[in-house]
Amino acid sequence: WTTGTATDAENSIRELAALAETAGSQILDGVMQRRTSPDPGTYLGQGKAEELRVIVEATGADTVVCDGELSPSQRRGLEDKVKVKVIDRTALILDIFAQHAKSKEGKAQVELAQYEYLLPRLRGWGESMSRQAGGQVGAGNGMGSRGPGETKIELDRRRIRTKMAKLRREIAAMKTSRVTMRDSRRRNAVPAVAIAGYTNAGKSSLLNRLTGAGVLVENALFATLDPTIRRAMAPDGREFTLADTVGFVRSLPTQLVEAFRSTLEEVSDSDLLLHVVDGSHPDPEGQISAVRAVLAELKGDVPKEIVVINKIDAADPEVINRIVLREPRVIAVSARSGEGIDKLLDLIQEELPRPDVEIDVLVP
Ligand code: GDP
Repeated sequence: WTTGTATDAENSIRELAALAETAGSQILDGVMQRRTSPDPGTYLGQGKAEELRVIVEATGADTVVCDGELSPSQRRGLEDKVKVKVIDRTALILDIFAQHAKSKEGKAQVELAQYEYLLPRLRGWGESMSRQAGGQVGAGNGMGSRGPGETKIELDRRRIRTKMAKLRREIAAMKTSRVTMRDSRRRNAVPAVAIAGYTNAGKSSLLNRLTGAGVLVENALFATLDPTIRRAMAPDGREFTLADTVGFVRSLPTQLVEAFRSTLEEVSDSDLLLHVVDGSHPDPEGQISAVRAVLAELKGDVPKEIVVINKIDAADPEVINRIVLREPRVIAVSARSGEGIDKLLDLIQEELPRPDVEIDVLVP
């Protein structure tokens, strides 16, 4: 169930499928349901849930992923019906972020987000969680031991809150050191260019093209959670740094917004922004506005922006023309074939801040 038009729902489902593949799953089948609101008991409603059960049985699927956020009781209700594990979009996205976080700061941020997601759901997952915890602390003997009492859940909650507070302190400390590093780069007066854009738009590929660095390129969402920063050179020989930032995604879980913001600070602190758009996507204009809406919420100024329409080798020329006519600073490229990259470098050079030129005043 999703709100909005049929195309919105289809795009959202398509993205959900790509997300699940990124997490290492294989997509077997799907069902769509149009309702005015989700069913409180089973999310889908009895009839559709039954249809899903038949599909699950026929395909041998071991997990159902729902495009939306399920309440604990909806998740249980649907699990009872389909007899396999049910997860929602948020849990899936958190899982992918956890798989891809590389830096200490990134890992800590994802862990914090996972706890935030878990905390209100503790009751729903209580049984299996405390069976595990029971095993660890040796309380109860698992099988046949009584279910968790309210106290057990309270204890788990308190433990989680303590962990969250610790993570928040650690993240604050790491942030300070990152900002110091950034300040020192700035003092060296190397102009900073940031790459931002929707997930899978081709940001890492573009970074590779512009710097020749062997950054991992995956046909997967969120190959980059932590910013990668490389040196690059303009045609006139001037150096600049190029930072690849986190990819945007539809309905980002609220628990991740904070982590996302701090990664995006790299953007508000840059001299120039390359806003990469996948020209071959069904709705590139929608992606442009979604990215801009998030950027507008950042503290500080959004730097001057060049819209880079990528994947022109696979895009509809009419769509490209439409975007070109709308945007003041825009260029169409293919990170894959290299087409348009020279022009992009010329444009970057034009837009880079001029170095402060010291003028010796000659006194006659
Ligand atoms: P990111 O998530 O924005 O960093 O995107 P990636 O750079 O990882 O690219 C996502 C996918 O798009 C990969 O499969 C790339 O090979 C593909 N890709 C990137 N640039 C191009 C391009 O110019 N043309 C085509 N056809 N595919 C591209």
